Amino acid sequence: MADDCVFCKIVAGETPATRVYEDEDTVAFADLNPQAPTHVLVVPKRHIADIVELSKDAEPGAALLRGIRRTAEASGLTEFRTVFNTGAQSGQSVFHVHAHVLGGRRMLWPPG
Ligand code: 5GP
Ligand code: ZN
Repeated sequence: MADDCVFCKIVAGETPATRVYEDEDTVAFADLNPQAPTHVLVVPKRHIADIVELSKDAEPGAALLRGIRRTAEASGLTEFRTVFNTGAQSGQSVFHVHAHVLGGRRMLWPPG
């Protein structure tokens, strides 16, 4: 667990969150500031900063992808958008890697 990481605190149960899915590797919880009818964040339980770090080994990335699929299933989504912001300029504000899973409305492209 990284010091002062809000997502590590959610994983540990120290900060409350509305959990929608959990397995041995991942936790998914509702985003505090939803941008779609369903907006869930899927995170590895282990602190990893971003997808650059996540992709250095095969297993953590595969586990997170599996968690995304199961989170979508648990949320009743068959169509959804998945976003990984990487770096502050891309919009990353929490440096514990997380997949935004958004669904329940038509998504626009290009993103803002
Ligand atoms: P980022 O900007 O890093 O891609 O996404 C971070 C997301 O985490 C934002 O959408 C923000 O609303 C969400 N978030 C930040 N702090 C908390 C929190 O304490 N609880 C929950 N559930 N979501 C949070
Ligand atoms: Zn963390």
